[in-house]
Amino acid sequence: MKVMKFGGTSVGSVESLLNLRDIVNAESKPVIVVVSAMGGFTNQLLAMCEQAQQRDISCLDTLEEARKRHHDAVDGVVIPAMRDQVHATIDRFIDESLKPYYLALATNPHMPVDEIERVCDAIVAHGEILSSAIVTGMFEDGVPHLSLNFMRTTPDAGGRVLDWEETEHLVKADFASLDEGVHVVQGFISRDKESGAVTNLGRGGSDYTGAILASLLDADSLEIWTDVDGFMTADPRTHPDATVIPQMTYAQAQEMCDAGAKVIYPPTIAPVAMKHIPVWVKNTFNPSAPGTVIVDE
Ligand code: ASP
Ligand code: MG
Repeated sequence: MKVMKFGGTSVGSVESLLNLRDIVNAESKPVIVVVSAMGGFTNQLLAMCEQAQQRDISCLDTLEEARKRHHDAVDGVVIPAMRDQVHATIDRFIDESLKPYYLALATNPHMPVDEIERVCDAIVAHGEILSSAIVTGMFEDGVPHLSLNFMRTTPDAGGRVLDWEETEHLVKADFASLDEGVHVVQGFISRDKESGAVTNLGRGGSDYTGAILASLLDADSLEIWTDVDGFMTADPRTHPDATVIPQMTYAQAQEMCDAGAKVIYPPTIAPVAMKHIPVWVKNTFNPSAPGTVIVDE
């Protein structure tokens, strides 16, 4: 079984979603598909939090543009039998969850800082919640999973880290009988182990979700589908002669990620390296390109 993670640009437009569909349909099932929010939407959700805190409710206009973008994607890619349901899901999360959160931020000048943080964490989770509803609806055999049910974090040094023990237990239960089909999971989002509050794995954290699932479920491979052909020998914007690195070790990949290569979120490597699971970096917009594979030797 493979875990295939698709980033923001890969789920960001009808064109890219149709590529995703073809890529996933070519796989044997079951397969686990981890998705990011539609490209740029996480930034927008957070920018709207800032606006709302300044009592600038023009953030609700941006929310309407985002609603339209998601509905347009549904019309472009979701199978007809699922369309009404997915449209309704999008409206429900926007009207009954996002809007009330933004209004609460905008109208409550005395909201304590930790409450503001809690609301913004709940808001930012909606990117993956909405994109995953669309992606599940694209497949006749789409099976929805909710990462909020099994990804657990715990506070650490002012931030938070994954709680491996609790997550392992919950992931194994959630995926105990992995029926045939396309199992769709939100990247990035999680809950605090103690309070149950919605949390996340940090910006870019969907890669890490993919790696955690691949590791805990002993996947055959993890594929990171993005918008570049793989790890490059240098930054192609400044080095036009840069080429794709066909194969690298976990240690080399870790070093490049730590040095700022934006291809993979740095915490992604360790969980898969530990289990010797190969990681492929592939381009949703150029799927026949060989990509980069990351292995032991
Ligand atoms: N949507 C989140 C972000 O933009 C997580 C991810 O895409 O990996 O950071
Ligand atoms: Mg990313």
